[in-house]
Amino acid sequence: MRVLVISDIHANLTAFETVLADARNEWEYVWCLGDVVGYGPDPNECVDLLKTLPHLCLAGNHDWAALGRLDIRTFNPDARKAVDWTRDTLTAENLAYLEALPTTFVIGNYTLAHGSPREPVWEYILEPLIAALNFSHFETSYCLVGHTHQPIIYEQMDEQGDTEAVAPVYRQRIRLNGHRQIINPGSVGQPRDANPDAAYAILDVETNQFEHRRVPYNIKAVQARMRKFDMPERLISRLEHGW
Ligand code: ZN
Repeated sequence: MRVLVISDIHANLTAFETVLADARNEWEYVWCLGDVVGYGPDPNECVDLLKTLPHLCLAGNHDWAALGRLDIRTFNPDARKAVDWTRDTLTAENLAYLEALPTTFVIGNYTLAHGSPREPVWEYILEPLIAALNFSHFETSYCLVGHTHQPIIYEQMDEQGDTEAVAPVYRQRIRLNGHRQIINPGSVGQPRDANPDAAYAILDVETNQFEHRRVPYNIKAVQARMRKFDMPERLISRLEHGW
């Protein structure tokens, strides 16, 4: 089975549709690593589209924030404003969908979490040391995470647990090599690695072949919708800079 691995759509329908068009018929199933909503202008449209696909989806911190499950006083003011707007905009049916999302999933040789296997909703794996501490918190060879909005592979190099960060090589299929890895496909709807293009990945779970991808999308169209809804300017401009 080939899997379309996506994360952090963040209510950006244009980016989501562009990823689906780019990946065409190269997958049979979708693994979505959470944060379907939050920040962007299309929360219902993104949940509705996801629901039409054969998929499993995990809960992210922004999904929980929209449900009122989190204390959002730790969010910055722009993020808070986006959370309030998202909560008011989501239909009861789509809130119920988000409500039912699990925080982790184990399927074959893959563990899935939004943030990390240790703290599935919260923890950011932003450096090899944090990744190294997480390998004892899952049993499969591979773990897929999102949350940081940065595509990367953390690889355990030896028995001592030394871990290295491997930068993604886009549009190049790699065979996962048996070393334990924590892999981030990047963010569909709000990349934060100084590259504004939508990020996703294709994984063949039979052959363990994995491919990071980027695809440009119509950012201006998304920004226009955000302005229409009077969303914070900082959230609007960050899309074109990829941070
Ligand atoms: Zn996110």
